[in-house]
Amino acid sequence: MQQPNVPGTDLGAEIAKSLGVVRSPEWSRVREAHLHLAKDQGFCAVCNGTAQLQVHHIVPFHFCHLVYRGDLELDERNLMTLCEVLENDHHNLVGHLEDWEIFNPGGRTVMADAFKGVAVTQLTKDEIKQSNQFQAWMSAKNIPKRWQAMSDQDKKDLRAFLDSNLPYIPTPGNPAPFPFMEGGDNGGDPAKIATTYGSRLPIFHQQLAELQV
Ligand SMILES: [Zn+2]
Repeated sequence: MQQPNVPGTDLGAEIAKSLGVVRSPEWSRVREAHLHLAKDQGFCAVCNGTAQLQVHHIVPFHFCHLVYRGDLELDERNLMTLCEVLENDHHNLVGHLEDWEIFNPGGRTVMADAFKGVAVTQLTKDEIKQSNQFQAWMSAKNIPKRWQAMSDQDKKDLRAFLDSNLPYIPTPGNPAPFPFMEGGDNGGDPAKIATTYGSRLPIFHQQLAELQV
């Protein structure tokens, strides 16, 4: 199902809320810092445009929180800039594979490099959808499931994927991530899902500083 993207609404937050996850109060500061301070982040990673920019969570933040890795809501490694210019909407198309409730698991570099060198005039929705890269992303074996459709094993696999690709960065005031679905944990403990334990802003600014090099 394709949901309309109404300007001014925060679809990611609405989807998360329906699953009992709320945005961190630090999100707006992290978002602004990513857009305005990070090197090479002030434009869409697909078309280099600077209009209607969104800061995209590569793995949507509700998935992160629900497998007890809410730190990744506020982690530069899980962010990239994509535009929402009407019709082509690279955020929805490339970042979410046309379904706001899932995500493109290809990763930041793959998404950013997929259409490098292609003229902006050819980065329309139709042309991207016809590309080999998009077809590969959309093949049934690659496309991720929505949270509600995931089995326990899928959820454990997602947590393992995050731990392996985006390992937790120790942060003062934040506990290390709780084990997920281990030792009697049923995977739905609200205290472990509510992951705004302390500020992650110092770590985020440190990540940005490293990007400037
Ligand atoms: Zn774009």
